[in-house]
Amino acid sequence: MTRDVRPFVAGNWKMNGLSGSLVEIEALRRAADAGEAGVAELVVCPPATLLAQAAWKIKGGKLGLGAQDCHPEASGAFTGDISAPMLKDAGAAYVIVGHSERRTLHHETDALVRAKAEAALRAGLTAIVCVGETRAERETGEAIAVVTRQLKGSLPPGGAPETVVVAYEPVWAIGTGLTPTAIDVAEMHGAIRALLDDIYGDSGAKIRILYGGSVKPANAKELLGIDNVDGALVGGASLQATDFLAIAAAYR
Ligand code: PEP
Repeated sequence: MTRDVRPFVAGNWKMNGLSGSLVEIEALRRAADAGEAGVAELVVCPPATLLAQAAWKIKGGKLGLGAQDCHPEASGAFTGDISAPMLKDAGAAYVIVGHSERRTLHHETDALVRAKAEAALRAGLTAIVCVGETRAERETGEAIAVVTRQLKGSLPPGGAPETVVVAYEPVWAIGTGLTPTAIDVAEMHGAIRALLDDIYGDSGAKIRILYGGSVKPANAKELLGIDNVDGALVGGASLQATDFLAIAAAYR
């Protein structure tokens, strides 16, 4: 923790988890309530099918609940999609938008990501807006320009520290066991911080910037100690409560 903001540690379960996995959410809730998760705001984002059941499990406790995507419209003829008000109704308080898997596999554009983030804010959800460069973009020295462009196109107007969290996730670090150097993370997070100040003025300074991409218990302390890293978005290592809690423990 390098700044005067509450750190934020979110787990993205992606398309993993059946009702049996709710025991992991129960374990996270117990740990969060007992203060074992350190000072961080701890949030779990299971698949949409588990949201309502998970909401019952965490009710009245300190664990937060998020979804992994939302449609930009509140309702309508969009077979298979789920809207932000539906997520809110199911018990979510957060929603991830613009994850690189959706940008790549579902061809989501910055404009669509922004529309989803705006829908999240309208529904009273906090949007976790994801950005990040590919391996090729990093190797050609374009990483900061790419992430700047993504953020300018994806961030919702009127965002505030309570309603927007940014997650910097280099695409080549997701699920690969690879991570950028501490110097590269610090440079990117510094650039994102400056951009947030430009876009949102004073409140930009308090918007949390997460690092995501192969965060594990073994590297959490180093990654989360870098300047302007206000938390983590964790994929694979969030599926087991013990690993996820060991990452959050970097903030104890
Ligand atoms: C993610 O999918 O957001 C992610 C960071 O995954 P992993 O931690 O598995 O790299």
